[in-house]
Formats: sequence, structure tokens, C-alpha cells
Amino acid sequence: MSSDNIIISGLGISGLITASLFCKEKIEVHCFEPSDFSKLCEDQRTTAFLNPAINAFKEIGIWENIEPFAQPLKEMEIIDATAFKKNGETTSVVFDPNEVKLKNFGYNIPNERVSSALLNFLREKKNFVLYSSDSLVDHYAFDNNILVKSAKGKVLEGKLLISCEGRDSQIRKREKIGKIKASYNQLAMVFQVSHSESHKNRTTEILDTGGPFTIIPLRSSTSQLKSTVVWMDTYEAINEAYSLRKNQFDALISKKSMGARGKLKLLSGKQKWPVLSQITKAIVSKRTVLIAESAHVMPPTGAQGLNTSVEDIIYLYQICKKALKSNKDIGEDKLLRQYSLVRFPLTGGKVFGIHLLNEISMTKNRFLKTARRNFLKHLNQSPGLKRILIRVGLG
Ligand SMILES: Cc1cc2nc3c(=O)[nH]c(=O)nc-3n(C[C@H](O)[C@H](O)[C@H](O)COP(=O)(O)OP(=O)(O)OC[C@H]3O[C@@H](n4cnc5c(N)ncnc54)[C@H](O)[C@@H]3O)c2cc1C
Repeated sequence: MSSDNIIISGLGISGLITASLFCKEKIEVHCFEPSDFSKLCEDQRTTAFLNPAINAFKEIGIWENIEPFAQPLKEMEIIDATAFKKNGETTSVVFDPNEVKLKNFGYNIPNERVSSALLNFLREKKNFVLYSSDSLVDHYAFDNNILVKSAKGKVLEGKLLISCEGRDSQIRKREKIGKIKASYNQLAMVFQVSHSESHKNRTTEILDTGGPFTIIPLRSSTSQLKSTVVWMDTYEAINEAYSLRKNQFDALISKKSMGARGKLKLLSGKQKWPVLSQITKAIVSKRTVLIAESAHVMPPTGAQGLNTSVEDIIYLYQICKKALKSNKDIGEDKLLRQYSLVRFPLTGGKVFGIHLLNEISMTKNRFLKTARRNFLKHLNQSPGLKRILIRVGLG
């Protein structure tokens, strides 16, 4: 082992992926996480992982453990429902991965499966050092190393500190890095449903006022047809729906889905998440890097949040791996500046793009709704533009 330890603070999915990749190198990977992981299975979300994330799982060596739970995402359909209430007319467009010569856009996988596969992988690694139920309370960066101190009194030295602490990162606050935040008076409710008609590997996003209602196919080990629903709407609409009795809820979601999968029935508990966009004013400081939601938060629209975080992780890992090969310092200013120069504009652009997409998908403005509908109609006659949008969506 070399003395180029890294310290990762926060083991959500992003922290777990980061730790798993760095554990492939001959360095010690010290990780702090305030929880004891007993709540891993409480996350009912599934993530539409795009192909770069799948390749990262293959590189780590956990793909064969999660593949049996992964549902290929073959087609993406967007339906504009706003004219439906008036005259029964719907406008829709279907994106097919074959249009950009791909078999599928990615895979929908339960978060819990991914987190437990990563944790099991890490627990077998000798260079993985876990401090669970403990968190960092301070850190001091020097020219040659960084010192961290934990709530339980652990003091450690490393070359690089990576914050994967999520949207309220304490490391960001201690570094006095500001943030810009946009809220939307919007909640995302997540739950799983069974349905009477096949999903045919298709994701359907229904645009209305308040936000999209998205049905994402799930892999099922039985003959039951299952999907995850992410319903984004105003606080009032989501809270009202959340408190309905099951039969009323089933009737409401079947109506919201416009019959796209036949009758829907709730299969799981329901979870609510506040929707926001957030970007930090810097993503690196001395021997410290903010990645994933510590650096950027996006609405679930477009399934970009965690996929963008995986791009952060892959890039950081690649430049550190190169530095390690030539015995260079993985926490030096030059390396972190390179990381920031590449990732800061890309993540900023993505947060802004998803912010606009979310504003358009929830708009009440009649002019914007008509423009949205006309744009979807135009897309159907414009395969070139569709291909561009698919490539943008795939990063
Ligand atoms: C409804 C919904 C659906 C989504 N769907 C998709 C999708 O399909 N595709 C996609 O790409 N993205 C999706 N996202 C986004 C994605 O879920 C998030 O980007 C991702 O979960 C964030 O992971 P993270 O590891 O960065 O943060 P978190 O999951 O918040 O993890 C942070 C970790 O840090 C720990 N922590 C907190 N404070 C400290 C501290 N002081 N010290 C140490 N540790 C600390 C926490 O305990 C936690 O374990 C969705 C989001 C939502 C809300």
C-alpha cells in the first residue's frame, strides 16, 4: 500500500461507487458515514442508469450481481396531456435507441440493489476502511496532506478528501463554498405499481400542469407486470394524493396515466422528495473535491442526477489513477484544477438545462403549453432533431 490514502465522506450511492472504483487501486480508502446502513432498503427509488454507469458497474465487477434486477430501457415516450382534457387529443413522441444505433438507453434498477451490491463488494476489500455511524466534524488542508477529525474522535491523514455528503454537505459549508438554489413548490412522489397491460420495455412520461407523471418499467421475476412511478406535482396535489385510501389512489393514478398501462394498482409504500435545483459556486478547494449532490442537485426530470454524478466519479477516478501510476500526488492543486475545469462547466450546464426542462414540464402558461405541444409535433417529423435530443439526453 502507498500512503496516498483518500478519505470519502458520505456513502450514499455516489460515495459507494467512488469508494468501489478507488479500492481497485493500491491505496487505502477511508470512508465515513453517519448512518449504520440499516436503512438502505428503505429507499424505494429506482434509477434509470445510462450506459456509462453500467460500464462503471462492469469495471467494478458487480454488474452480474445486479443485472438480474435490471430492466432494459428500450423506448421513451413523451405524451402531452394538456389538450386531452379539452378535446380528447393527445400529442406524443417516441424516442427509440435504434435511432442512435444503441440497443437500449440504459437500465432501470432499484437503488437498494445497487447500494447493497456495492457495499458487499467493498466489505471484501482489504483496503476499504469503514467508519459507520461516524461523520467528519473538521478538516485541515496542508501542502502535503489533509487531516480530518470525526465526531467519535478519529483523526486521520490522507492526500485527498472527497465529499459525497449530499445536498447539505458540511465539508462545503466548512470550506465556505456558496450555492445557488431554485425551488419549485414541487414534490416528487415515488411508488411501485402493477398494471394490466405490458410496458413493452417503454418508459412513458406524461406532461400536464404541475409536472410530469413518469412510468418506468421494472424487471419482474414473476408474470406480474410492474413499473416505478415518479409523479412530480405541486405540494398541494402530491400531499392530497398521498393521503388517499388505496382504492381511491389506484383510481387516481390510473386516470393520471391516461390508460398507458391499463389499470394501475399500488404495490409499495409511497415516498415524497422535495424537488430542487442547486449548484455550488466551486467544486474544489485545497485537497478537497465536492462531487455528486454535494456539488449539484437536479429535479428527477430527464433522469440525469445520479448519472451526472457517475460522470464526475469516473472522471475523478481516471485522472487520479493516471497520477497514481506516475507516483504523483492525487490531491495536488493542478489535478484538482483540471477536474474543476472539465466538470464545473458541464455540471453547471446540465443543472441549467434540467431546470429549464422542469419549468417547461410544469408550466401553467398557455403560450408555453402550446409551444411545448407544437414542439413535440415537430419532433415527429424531424428525425435529425430527435437524434440530437437523444444524444444530449445520453450525455
Ligand atoms: C424521486 C427521484 C428519482 C430519481 N431518479 C433518478 C434517475 O432515474 N436517474 C438519475 O440519474 N438520478 C435520479 N435521481 C437523483 C438521484 O437519486 C440522486 O442524485 C442520488 O440519490 C444522490 O446520491 P448522493 O450519493 O449524491 O447523495 P445522498 O444519497 O444524499 O447520499 C449522501 C450520503 O452522505 C451522508 N452524509 C450526510 N451528511 C454527512 C456528513 N456530514 N458526513 C458524512 N456523511 C454524510 C448521508 O447519510 C448519505 O448516506 C432521482 C432523485 C429523486 C428524488
